Amino acid sequence: MRARPALLLTLFFVSSSCSDLESFYQEEVLGNTKNEKCTTCPSDFNQFPVSVEEITSVPEGKQNHFVGRFNQTKYLKVPDYGVHIMGSEHVSDWMMVKTYALAQNAINSLIEESDRLKFENHEFYVITDQDPDIGFVRRPGQRNTGNARYTVINEDLVCRRAVDTIRPNAEPFYRTWETPVHEFGHSLDLALGLREEFEALHRENNDRYMQNLGAEYFPWAVERWFGSGYGGKEGRERLKDYELSFFRNRFREEFLWVPSCEGRPEK
Ligand SMILES: [Zn+2]
Repeated sequence: MRARPALLLTLFFVSSSCSDLESFYQEEVLGNTKNEKCTTCPSDFNQFPVSVEEITSVPEGKQNHFVGRFNQTKYLKVPDYGVHIMGSEHVSDWMMVKTYALAQNAINSLIEESDRLKFENHEFYVITDQDPDIGFVRRPGQRNTGNARYTVINEDLVCRRAVDTIRPNAEPFYRTWETPVHEFGHSLDLALGLREEFEALHRENNDRYMQNLGAEYFPWAVERWFGSGYGGKEGRERLKDYELSFFRNRFREEFLWVPSCEGRPEK
């Protein structure tokens, strides 16, 4: 186990406490126009979901995708919907636990149980740059993706600044936890069948809508909905009104959740 027990208390720290959520809503998201607030955090909002001690080896027959490509050795099961988290030998225990929290909190934030049930047996493949790439996508080297059945996330893209190799002088796009949240956004989109409706909203309302980026609008919005900040603006503040109403119809607002980078093991 690479994570030290002394770190456990901070490892699962969720960046907003209940009272922080309340002020965030009042000041940043809702202004003074709305009274709704988080007076108690939802009972299934799990800040301390699992201990590294729970990590086991992957049970026989649990890996259904990338067999023979990814060598997954670490395993956690999210009990709520039987979500499987499988990490390669290079993945830290910290990342395993953080992925568990991402899966549990993001899925539990869905309002409709019928939506949550679409993640039954969803598989998370957690890998690093030392593992093979996905293999079937057009871009060699790609190690992150998401669809209705599984999500692949790369620990080396977490809590890092990505470098834009095409436009090296442009301000680097700030990625912290957005990458896994983004990839899970693709999984949410495809599992729930949201793309058509969300893309139509952008086609109607977004002057800069680009058809070739059609699949990305929803995952970008998912990052913001869960609180990822960029360019001096925080999370939901960056969402357009038409995006906010879309999310409010499907997700519980009190699940404002940005996984913290605190405790990340140095590599
Ligand atoms: Zn994407």
